[in-house]
Amino acid sequence: MKQYLHFVDGKWLAPNTGSFIKSINPANGVAWAEFARGNEIDANLAVLSADRAFRNSPWSACSANDRAEILDQLADCLESRWEELVESEIQDNGKRIVEVRAQFSALHTWYRHFSKEARNLQPEAQVNSIPGVNSETHYFPFGVVVAITPWNSPLMILAWKLAPALAAGNTVVVKPSELASASTLEFAKIAHEAGLPNGVLNVVTGYGSEAGEALVRHPLTRKVTFTGSDIGGCKVAEAAASSPVPVNLELGGKSPQIVFEDADLESTVNGIASGIFLSNGQTCVAGSRLIVQKTIKNKLVEKIIRCAESLKIGHPMNPDTQIGPLANESQYQKVMKMIQRAKNEGAVCLTGGHALVPDKCPNGYFIAPTIFDQISTDMQLWQEEVFGPVLAVIEFGSEDEAVALANNSKYGLAAGIWTTNETRASRMAAKIDTGTVYVNHYRSVAPGAHVGGVKRSGYGRELGADAIKDFLQTRSIWIGKKPMNHPF
Ligand code: NAD
Repeated sequence: MKQYLHFVDGKWLAPNTGSFIKSINPANGVAWAEFARGNEIDANLAVLSADRAFRNSPWSACSANDRAEILDQLADCLESRWEELVESEIQDNGKRIVEVRAQFSALHTWYRHFSKEARNLQPEAQVNSIPGVNSETHYFPFGVVVAITPWNSPLMILAWKLAPALAAGNTVVVKPSELASASTLEFAKIAHEAGLPNGVLNVVTGYGSEAGEALVRHPLTRKVTFTGSDIGGCKVAEAAASSPVPVNLELGGKSPQIVFEDADLESTVNGIASGIFLSNGQTCVAGSRLIVQKTIKNKLVEKIIRCAESLKIGHPMNPDTQIGPLANESQYQKVMKMIQRAKNEGAVCLTGGHALVPDKCPNGYFIAPTIFDQISTDMQLWQEEVFGPVLAVIEFGSEDEAVALANNSKYGLAAGIWTTNETRASRMAAKIDTGTVYVNHYRSVAPGAHVGGVKRSGYGRELGADAIKDFLQTRSIWIGKKPMNHPF
């Protein structure tokens, strides 16, 4: 079994406790690696290393251009070596090889985007009405940033945090999920070999309540960026408030897909099915609530069922597989329980709703793509994030009814609107209480478009035009142009 240590100050560091957490391959239930179980002492060493690097290493003396050059070196290295990372992630979280290859072959683009942003960063003139005095906004980094990531897309989500944080001149300690830390540690090795100075990027593994919380509470931590569940996010925000340290929270969702009778049916079916079944619904923006106009409900749902039943379910390493295993046993158990509760509450299962054992995957965590009808808004399936391949269907009559159903959620991360009527699409987009709205397609991401949520989906934004500024503090500098009398 492969053993992974922490990565601190450019070196591998054994856990202070001497204990490890096993990673189980979800395709076959076999333990394939173990990660250091970090505690307060390990967290302290990592933050001290990052703080030293921030104050004393070549990193802090770097100009923004020099830093951008190192990020470009990292991007070059990722562009030529990303394939080395693929298998570790698949063994950890069961993501399909096709999806992992697509994410990893593009990893370098996030780092290149933010190296460009670093080069463009300049002080900005402020508007003031004081005669004889100019003022400017200058930007400076926080220092040690703690980045906490989930298990579903560890390296892509890390790139959204790490690239802007480093471009801004911070140093970083990453705490990946205890359920999928391998690709982050393999990435740290590549980043070090690409020329990141010691201590600029550190990785501490272990449980959130142990290593994670110790990092957030450390007195030298200056900013926290978190992606994960709403429950984890609230705990992190509470811990950060005691310092106080600013936090970004990218949390869960229960995203609605609203389909009008004038939608292009074929592309809508494809968009709805991939929105919930790709990655097994284990994406924050999974379109898990289908809100469909009464007049086309039967036709649309029938087509989605046919699509769901045609998907090839199998081993994630097989490039033909369209649905792999759930990422870990606890996720599998949670989804199975929610399916059972939906049945108990009276929802009607139209397809799926059971576990599977595909060829060559004994003891894997597979669940058939599942669709439920006869949903009411007080059911758990309507209100709670499943983070699994489960779609809940409800019908609407009027546009106002569709808006009310879409907003009937404690979450507000993303929404899909499917209609050929552009005026209606923009009217609807303005009324849905959410951080992102997709019209006639779903799930795109790009460095220039922010992601983030409202309500229990979190606060703060990642990516977008101001992403680098989120990792910078501002200082107002006032410059008197000539000697002046200061009135009393
Ligand atoms: P999680 O909250 O259980 O864990 C996420 C990370 O936080 C892990 O590294 C965990 O160890 C750490 N953590 C947990 N409790 C902590 C604490 N008290 N202090 C410090 N760290 C703590 O979430 P998960 O199960 O790994 O991920 C799935 C969740 O992430 C889903 O809800 C999903 O919607 C969400 N997610 C959101 C986005 C987004 O961009 N909004 C993206 C991906 C996933």
